[in-house]
Amino acid sequence: MEDASNKPLIGLVPTMGALHAGHASLIRAAASSCRHVAVSIFVNPTQFGPHEDYARYPRSFEADRALAQSEGAHAIFAPSVEELYPAGASTFVEVEGLSTRLDGASRPGHFRGVATVVAKLFIAAEPDRAFFGQKDAAQVSVLRRMTADLRLATEIVVCPIVRDPDGLALSSRNAYMSPVERAQSLALSRAVRRVEALAAQGERRAEALIAAAREVFAAASSAFPAAPTVRIDFIALVDWSTLEPVEIAAPGTLFAVAAWVGPTRLIDNAILR
Ligand code: AMP
Repeated sequence: MEDASNKPLIGLVPTMGALHAGHASLIRAAASSCRHVAVSIFVNPTQFGPHEDYARYPRSFEADRALAQSEGAHAIFAPSVEELYPAGASTFVEVEGLSTRLDGASRPGHFRGVATVVAKLFIAAEPDRAFFGQKDAAQVSVLRRMTADLRLATEIVVCPIVRDPDGLALSSRNAYMSPVERAQSLALSRAVRRVEALAAQGERRAEALIAAAREVFAAASSAFPAAPTVRIDFIALVDWSTLEPVEIAAPGTLFAVAAWVGPTRLIDNAILR
């Protein structure tokens, strides 16, 4: 739906709160292209595995509300778990195939929870546009597929990754890290930058690009001999829409990495040119 200024009426920015500059960039993008901006804040239990950090996920509602408003949000939607999942709730949205790749392979059920809650938010807010970060690149693939399959009218807008000055992609989970882990975490963004640079120089073979990223992780581990090593979850070069591995990188190919730094799981990626 559009108003007289031809701007779409409603922009939605779904979040789990603990807002940072990455979320702020989504809210600003929404505010610049939509008449009304709603930010949802909901720590969605169904996207956490049984041994994941649902209980200790950071919650900071008052600060989140202030940040969302100062970036241009007109409404905050912060439902309770019971509001989104009424007693006995047993309806889920499952995007088959995609939901078992990349993060979905190591977090079974995660994307089922994401697709379900985003569908519920879309039904509740009926947004013309919804804004998501490229940081969660596999999530974008799952949600694009879901909106296409269900023929939802909401346009998915993807915003660039916001980083700390040293390269670390902002994440609410960065707060979990000790100073040593914070230093070790740079392996992810360094690997991403290395692969981007090699691809720009003409190296398009997945095998070589992935090997180069592994070398970055190996170097990062040897720089901290006393600390537990950063554990790679996956390093992958995939088609961004199918999340299937590719052998040769093309423009638009997704390079994605996930790794455990101590107890914290971090992700990063780049869309190669
Ligand atoms: P979350 O609160 O972690 O569920 O994230 C809410 C939205 O913010 C998702 O669409 C994320 O992809 C996006 N987001 C999280 N971190 C960043 C970042 N560093 N840069 C841009 N977007 C981000």
